[in-house]
Amino acid sequence: MGIFTVTKKLLLLSTGGTIASVASSTGLTPGESGEELVNTLQALPYEITVEDLLALDSSNIQPEEWRLMAETVYARRNDYDGIVISHGTDTMAYTASMLTFMLQNINLPVVLTGSQVPMNVLLSDAPRNLTLAFAAAAACRPGIYLAFDGKVMRGCRAVKVRTTAFDAFESVNFPPVGVVTSDGLERHPRRAVPTEPCVLNTKLDLNVSLIKLFPGFDPQIMLAMAESGCHGFVIEGYGLGGMTFVRRNVAAVIGQLSRMDIPVIAASQCLYERSDLTKYEVGRQALLEGAISAHDMTSESAITKLMWALGQGMDHAQVKEFFATNVAGEVTLPEETEEN
Ligand code: ASP
Repeated sequence: MGIFTVTKKLLLLSTGGTIASVASSTGLTPGESGEELVNTLQALPYEITVEDLLALDSSNIQPEEWRLMAETVYARRNDYDGIVISHGTDTMAYTASMLTFMLQNINLPVVLTGSQVPMNVLLSDAPRNLTLAFAAAAACRPGIYLAFDGKVMRGCRAVKVRTTAFDAFESVNFPPVGVVTSDGLERHPRRAVPTEPCVLNTKLDLNVSLIKLFPGFDPQIMLAMAESGCHGFVIEGYGLGGMTFVRRNVAAVIGQLSRMDIPVIAASQCLYERSDLTKYEVGRQALLEGAISAHDMTSESAITKLMWALGQGMDHAQVKEFFATNVAGEVTLPEETEEN
């Protein structure tokens, strides 16, 4: 009796980045098509279709491109078993986070990948990253992922932590959902397959800002920004989320902003572990004034979640509730375990 295996149908959406770059007189710039990228790989056991969506360095990828990617994934989601997006590494974590919010309950694996060295360079990391992304798109549960250097990470937990080394990404505050071992792609699925239908929602409010606190920071700048039309802030405080209140009273300004219905999300400058404003006075004051904790979210996830929340027309109270909700695995709430 024969064993029938169905060949997985995968789609590659190419968007540019180093992986597709070629040398030019003005510096490395995207120049290779998705077809050329796939043709460089050894034969893969998948039926692969390619669509060239963009040819941009990811420093030029912005909300307009996020929308195009989300709309394309949404339109093709029932035609394939998985989708790979090749993308520059510099802003890939932002795109992966935003797609997580724009495509909630996505019904297939969507895997972003890229490389530190162009595909057409000998010993590049591009062939193995792209091959891993296809393998993850064929094997993982539905969701938005980022595959890089032998690891498959939840997209909304990935952060670029190195500028040139091959292990450029880490899965922050959450273990990778897949790792390449000598047995192949060892998967550790942690989230149940969504049962609700996928919803495409690309409404965003771009009038937000991400601020890194430093000693001497004048919080009046935040009020000036609010007067110029800023509708929300993510502020990276110190350690567990501490904020200055002596002389330059950041907490008091958060209170003023909160009363103006402008949410301030309190994250940490530390990459690892959670922020917790309840422990120190420098956190509690901010909390009492209305700061909303980002818990253990990455800054990439926090700012994209805020853009998305404000885009839905949420007011301060609703944003607070939304940030106390684990939408797609982007946060570990105090009462949750890491299995979420
Ligand atoms: N500047 C490139 C980009 O983000 C870097 C890379 O892809 O590695 O598009």
